Amino acid sequence: MSITNNLQNLKSNLPKEVTLVAVSKTKPNEAIQEAYDAGQRVFGENKVQELTQKYEDLPKDIEWHLIGHLQTNKVKYIAPFVSLIHAVDSFKLLKEINKQALKNKRLINCLLQVKIAEEESKFGLSKSDTEHILNSEELKQLNNINIVGFMGMATNSSDENKVKEEFNSLHQFFTQHTNLTTLSMGMSGDYKIAIQEGSTMIRVGSTIFGGRNYST
Ligand SMILES: *Cc1c(COP(=O)(O)O)cnc(C)c1O
Repeated sequence: MSITNNLQNLKSNLPKEVTLVAVSKTKPNEAIQEAYDAGQRVFGENKVQELTQKYEDLPKDIEWHLIGHLQTNKVKYIAPFVSLIHAVDSFKLLKEINKQALKNKRLINCLLQVKIAEEESKFGLSKSDTEHILNSEELKQLNNINIVGFMGMATNSSDENKVKEEFNSLHQFFTQHTNLTTLSMGMSGDYKIAIQEGSTMIRVGSTIFGGRNYST
């Protein structure tokens, strides 16, 4: 199957209101260009350096999302062009994004990453820390960022009920915040469950581009 076919199959089964982020990490520019030629405009990367290089190399009307963990000292490299940062997990990081957005005279959209999986390794804020940030007075001073929603990753498990429960809990939390518009949840292995549980944005890599080989 080609990237074009994979993309078309995926999109033909997606509800219109769900945004597809094509996760192109580790994939060459040619692969991204093929998806672009098939009409895809939203791409996600998880490493700042790779994202910045691809932004320079590829068509300028691509909407680039950073989906991976972001270090404060790297915000400056993506602030000129990034359209959505998915995995904000501290107030310190929000402050830095605001500072760099201001420097670039931009408003940068952000999602707070909320921890829903059991695994220790997953980044993210607890629901109470998330509330704390959303309700803080300090947030009102940050005029160059816009928190538009939440991002979450379910436990990497074949237990569909567990994945479903985790997505469901994030959706419930999301619906308690009526000013938020975007709920980023679901990857190749679990996006169908995520959509059933209220996702508005899925991040899909291997289903479109094939498996990734990190050793090369
Ligand atoms: C790699 C990655 C994805 C996409 O994973 P696939 O299983 O290839 O669809 C989604 N979200 C994040 C945060 C990722 O790092």
